[in-house]
Amino acid sequence: MQVPPRPDLPTRAVHAGREDLKTLGVHALPLDFSTTYPFTDLDRATASLDALVSGDASAENPIYARLLNPTVARFETALADLEGAEASVAFASGMAALTAVLMAVRQRGGHIVATRPIYGTTDHLLSCDLLGIETTWVSPDGVAEAIRPETALVITETPTNPTLQIVDIADVVRQAGDVPVLVDSTFATPVLQRPMEHGAALVLHSATKYLGGHGDVIAGVVACSDEWARQLRQVRVATGALLHPLGGYLLHRGLQTLPIRVERAQATAGTLAARLAEHDAVETVYYPGLAPGGTHRQMDGPGTMLAFEVADYETARTLLQNVSLMTPAVSLGSVDTLIQHPAGLTHRVVSEEGREQGGVRPGLIRVSVGLESVDALWADLEHALAVAVREPALV
Ligand SMILES: *Cc1c(COP(=O)(O)O)cnc(C)c1O
Repeated sequence: MQVPPRPDLPTRAVHAGREDLKTLGVHALPLDFSTTYPFTDLDRATASLDALVSGDASAENPIYARLLNPTVARFETALADLEGAEASVAFASGMAALTAVLMAVRQRGGHIVATRPIYGTTDHLLSCDLLGIETTWVSPDGVAEAIRPETALVITETPTNPTLQIVDIADVVRQAGDVPVLVDSTFATPVLQRPMEHGAALVLHSATKYLGGHGDVIAGVVACSDEWARQLRQVRVATGALLHPLGGYLLHRGLQTLPIRVERAQATAGTLAARLAEHDAVETVYYPGLAPGGTHRQMDGPGTMLAFEVADYETARTLLQNVSLMTPAVSLGSVDTLIQHPAGLTHRVVSEEGREQGGVRPGLIRVSVGLESVDALWADLEHALAVAVREPALV
């Protein structure tokens, strides 16, 4: 018998984790809000509990919602499918997901190597003493030198936040040798980048961003092997940083439109980046599609995020106060376009040295391009830029 080819990613995004719905006789995802699950046979309930506490993904009886929630598990199956991973484990937020990974690796050694620039709170968590982990900060080509016998994990992010630099995942993996590499792939989504294809052991998403896509769920997820997933579930069972079932439902629904949202926003981002690069008031545009040679290497496209630099803080502030269609707000990956000031907001928790290393200057502005028309967005930006250049100090 001939095996049908594995469907393409947009097709899988629509159907993954829903294979049994026809058999169940339903069309929308079942939503299970139970916190506890009745049992009829004590021995079988005990066997389920033992399996889940040791990290199994499923059991005959979920027993208690901190151990397993079927709605969240469906989302995890779907996301793993899109990443080409054996499994994924969802958490209450992106930071809760990263914290679980750090707790899981701490048993292997207390040292981590991480590349800068990186998401502001990731920088903060790895720099403070909260989890008893020591971090060596490096540029992406300095990973090999920083590895020690007790190094338990290498953490990188690509494209980087906020300056959209591309880190070569395969090269970081090569430098890391036997040490597992975690890639924060939030900005790229599995539509544009699948880090496990390049040797990453763990892929982190702040699902709050593109996976949810509508700015109404906070969540995190780690795609990985079954073995890693087992450890992460053990941490989740013990520490309780759970994703609520409604969040799991909304994320799973969000995956269905993820490819089409990313493709549309990417087309708009490319046009906006090119127009910004021509604008007199803009000093630098950060967009992978504009980099010398237009290279975005391991990505299937240059992405939906861009950043640009104006003269100084006052110009940036006036610009932000004069956009009307774009939403001045942190976060990213929503259907509407979000614009923000990294030095003043998302990267404020990063040390001054860290900000300097990461190129987070006072005139830098970051845009998460949404689904509005490109002409409407450009008109908004052009107007705000004109006001900002005319009267930078007036507001
Ligand atoms: C938002 C974000 C995080 C943190 O995720 P939360 O869901 O806010 O906890 C981590 N990495 C990147 C790249 C992010 O954008």
